[in-house]
Amino acid sequence: MSAQINADTKSQVITTFDGHPLFSCSTCTAVIALQDELISKSFSGRDGRGFLIHSAVNLKMGKKEDRPLLTGVHTVADVYCVGCNERMGWYYLKASDQSQKYKEGKYLLEREKLIKENNWSLDD
Ligand SMILES: [Zn+2]
Repeated sequence: MSAQINADTKSQVITTFDGHPLFSCSTCTAVIALQDELISKSFSGRDGRGFLIHSAVNLKMGKKEDRPLLTGVHTVADVYCVGCNERMGWYYLKASDQSQKYKEGKYLLEREKLIKENNWSLDD
């Protein structure tokens, strides 16, 4: 499904996501990801808790860089909301440690930057 969604087909994305629990940008309410795309809530972002998410929309990627994280050096690129340019988190391009390879191609989104819609419940 997600392979058919392009950033410039916003109405299609909204139709596809309509009625599903999802994450939106806390600044401009652009749709960012479906609840179903959430992999883990127990990650650390830059300033607080972060979510590991399988795929996301309405994000643009910044410059890639090698960044030392809690679990070793990762090649990441910060991601920004296309609606308001707010930094939402980062995208994992490459993990140096073999045990961290599962993160490659996934997003780490800052919990603080997201709002929940459509009966999304967070159990913390
Ligand atoms: Zn936004």
